Amino acid sequence: MFHYHQFDAIVVGAGGAGLMAALHASKSVNTAVISKLYPTRSHTGTAQGGISAALGNLEEDHWEWHAYDTIKGGDFLCDQDAVDIMCREAIDAVIELEHMGLPFDRTPDGKISQRRFGGHTNNETKKPVMRACHAADRTGHMILQTLYQNCIKNNVRFFDEFQVIDVLIEDGRCDGVVAVQLATGDIHVFHSKATLIATGGFGKMWKVTSNAHSLTGDLPAAVLRRGLPLEDMEFFQFHPTGVYKLGILLSEAARGEGAVFINGKGERFMARYMPTLKDLAPRDICSRCIYQEIREGRGVDGKDYVYLDFRPEVINRYFEEDGNPKRVDAHYLETRLPDIIEFARVYQGIDPIKEPVPIQPTAHYAMGGIPTDNDGRVLADETGRVIEGLYAAGEVACVSVHGANRLGTNSLVDLVVFGRRGGKHMAEYCKQASFRPINKDAAAKDGAAQLDRLRNSNGDERPSTIRKEMQAMMDDKVGVYRTGAGLEEALDKIHELQARYKRIRVEDKGYKWNTDLMEAWELGALLDLAEVTAFAALARTESRGSHYREDYPQRDDVNFLKHSLVWKNGTLTVKYKPVRITRIQPQERKY
Ligand SMILES: Cc1cc2nc3c(=O)[nH]c(=O)nc-3n(C[C@H](O)[C@H](O)[C@H](O)COP(=O)(O)OP(=O)(O)OC[C@H]3O[C@@H](n4cnc5c(N)ncnc54)[C@H](O)[C@@H]3O)c2cc1C
Repeated sequence: MFHYHQFDAIVVGAGGAGLMAALHASKSVNTAVISKLYPTRSHTGTAQGGISAALGNLEEDHWEWHAYDTIKGGDFLCDQDAVDIMCREAIDAVIELEHMGLPFDRTPDGKISQRRFGGHTNNETKKPVMRACHAADRTGHMILQTLYQNCIKNNVRFFDEFQVIDVLIEDGRCDGVVAVQLATGDIHVFHSKATLIATGGFGKMWKVTSNAHSLTGDLPAAVLRRGLPLEDMEFFQFHPTGVYKLGILLSEAARGEGAVFINGKGERFMARYMPTLKDLAPRDICSRCIYQEIREGRGVDGKDYVYLDFRPEVINRYFEEDGNPKRVDAHYLETRLPDIIEFARVYQGIDPIKEPVPIQPTAHYAMGGIPTDNDGRVLADETGRVIEGLYAAGEVACVSVHGANRLGTNSLVDLVVFGRRGGKHMAEYCKQASFRPINKDAAAKDGAAQLDRLRNSNGDERPSTIRKEMQAMMDDKVGVYRTGAGLEEALDKIHELQARYKRIRVEDKGYKWNTDLMEAWELGALLDLAEVTAFAALARTESRGSHYREDYPQRDDVNFLKHSLVWKNGTLTVKYKPVRITRIQPQERKY
């Protein structure tokens, strides 16, 4: 069955970015949120460590320092005007969240408490600075609950468990989306003046990942199929501290509270690589150092993992060595890091208060995504042409504030700052725009046909087998270390998998809660994004941030200080656009 809805503004995705946008849009225009998950199950709810803002509540800090750290952390690929906006507006956005009722942890005198995080420094002393605002290690959960409650209060209309499968883009303008209602299999056409995409990351391309099952890149794939490019897809962050073999994240907050990396010889190896920031160096660097240790035979028991050690006596010993007067005990750690201590106990059977925890890098965060300007408007090409009525914000978008490597706690702040900017801009746009007529029956039929092709396909390939092969290959060839030959093999493999995907068989032919069908559809999206990622990575013959080419180990500012844009119109093409550099010239990255 087909259904039709009309709203001024539609937001796809109910994570932090989508809800912040919806909240602000709904102040002046009729707004709906469509989410394939129940809103408070969005991945934002798993964010542990914190949200950065240079409040300076515990020690001196300035938004300009935050901006410098972000740009340096991003290996100078960030658009600096966007970074300035983020770091300046972060302060006000965090206070806005507090006023909405977000229960941040407090300092003894009642201010928002802050902790250290990787790559965030006092620009003068170069030492770590306390910039991450937190609510225990459940910061994202608190943000999500707070925003959801405020959206309800503001009469935002929610379509929960509706999965968007197409974006209506024609003649340089967007008129809405097509979704399937998961409970019934019915097709719904949502007609809008403006649409904001906030569907989060797409880490399910990899096997070892911190990402939730739902992070499958449905909307980036949909806009790619509609002829739009994706930006900087070669940059995907591997977080150094995933639970060994499972990839579940143990937040950097652990190191913010003093935890250290230890190799098989019992050494705190980061002190050797990064003498000033040590274990709080940015994630791309920590992940490479871990692999370096493993490659040189210093993994634990010669295996492919190292330890994250946060036993109080170990933390205190290194605090003393570093001249840090702080001391911790088991009670303090249990209060500050309750969830990750619990994760280690449940998933590894290890008590981190008593034993070190085996960890390995895990695919974590997409720096690339749908290109936007600083108001969230989606860009169609390297000249900055805007697709009217189409916006994106949050992890799915590439503004670009994270450049080649994101600093911890900078995603949550990106969500609220650019979610808010996108929401406000789209409300203003809706006030002066009118609905353009659409052929709703054709849109619905196209959507239904996409799913029916999969439902009725009776080939001999199982989606789960193709998914496993894709993920194993991505771990192996498109991971922390890459080579030209490996990336070419990756592309060949993806093309083989895409051909086999055309012959899949979905066992469940029904309409209600057909997760078998939707997972097969999501696999198609992941394969397209994997292809774009490997292609962009092959084209970038330099090493920068998270993208490390063993055959081109140096950063090459002469040829590659630029953002990639990849299109998939039959074949793949790549073009580049310059990085916007305002205040800070690229320099060597030392910590
Ligand atoms: C384990 C973990 C811990 C993290 N910790 C931190 C941290 O401490 N600090 C920090 O700054 N960052 C952290 N991050 C990163 C940060 O949490 C994410 O980048 C951010 O939450 C993404 O938010 P979002 O609003 O863009 O999307 P998400 O919160 O991922 O929400 C995506 C939404 O899109 C919807 N959706 C997706 N596809 C469709 C579709 N086809 N149709 C309809 N709806 C769809 C989903 O239902 C969901 O509502 C962490 C990430 C992980 C995985």
